[in-house]
Amino acid sequence: MHIVVVDPSRVVLKVIGSLLDPRGYAVNTFTDSREALDFITANASVTALITSLEVRPLSGLELCWSVRLLAEGHRPLSIIAMSSARNARNLAEALDSGADDFIDKPPGAEELYARLRAAERMTRMQRQLIRLAETDALTQLLNRRAFIQRLSDTAERAGAHGRFGLVLADIDMFKRINDEHGHDVGDAAIQGVARALCELPESIVGRLGGEEFGIALPGRTLEEAETAANRLRLRCTQLRFKGSRGPVQLTCSFGVSAWSEGETQESLYKRADIALYEAKSSGRNRVVSAFADLVLARTG
Ligand code: GH3
Ligand code: MG
Ligand code: MG
Repeated sequence: MHIVVVDPSRVVLKVIGSLLDPRGYAVNTFTDSREALDFITANASVTALITSLEVRPLSGLELCWSVRLLAEGHRPLSIIAMSSARNARNLAEALDSGADDFIDKPPGAEELYARLRAAERMTRMQRQLIRLAETDALTQLLNRRAFIQRLSDTAERAGAHGRFGLVLADIDMFKRINDEHGHDVGDAAIQGVARALCELPESIVGRLGGEEFGIALPGRTLEEAETAANRLRLRCTQLRFKGSRGPVQLTCSFGVSAWSEGETQESLYKRADIALYEAKSSGRNRVVSAFADLVLARTG
């Protein structure tokens, strides 16, 4: 467990650090609450914050609140508020500001360890819940919501001038596989395609629904994403599934787009989707790239 401890007194930080270090916790201590918040924001490995209420420049309550916002939804984090003045008001305010627990300052060793064991149980459960909420049950890929979230994070990191490719893939004539071989074989085909689509290095892959997938390629240009999509297309043609009447083969169609300056994540997605539609209507088992003016050409 990676813990951040915040207190205005270096002596208190030293005392708490000396309790935590021998127990194998990774610990970072801060007297400045803004620096602590920046550190927690930048380091996803931090899963617990112990903060005194009497800190600056952000007050302890503000720090609890900011870290709670950070944790909301997709990051397991446990917050323990700490104060030498334990009273009903302090306690209620801290819990209402997002703290999960409250300890006296300075904390006694046994109590501190017990609170951290409780925090560990909670973050473990949070991690499991987050994984369940983000994962597609059939393929274990990211589900649609989680994939769109990653797309948005990747777009943010790429910035206005960054490189970032998006590939949308859809199994061709999939209904026929279901109809001819049954739903179970259809499911196995979806799983097989899902595995094959994960073979590109540094890609983010999600199941967007039914037999449709998204592959985000950070750092890739349109040409690179198109080459990658063609590799995946060939790979899909090589897959074989055991069907009710012999081996089943399939093909997939691909639409590709790449981040162009000033565009939104929605338009990046839309352009790849239009390209995928083109791939379908022009014969399937092919890759079509969306050029930057594709949306304008279709909607203008
Ligand atoms: P196209 O080449 O135009 O993409 O044709 P298609 O038959 O693949 O496309 P369509 O979108 O019409 O059909 C998708 C089918 O996928 C319909 C639905 O019954 C099936 N499907 C959706 N989710 C699942 C699933 O989880 N398992 C199985 N076995 N089938 C699914
Ligand atoms: Mg299909
Ligand atoms: Mg489809």
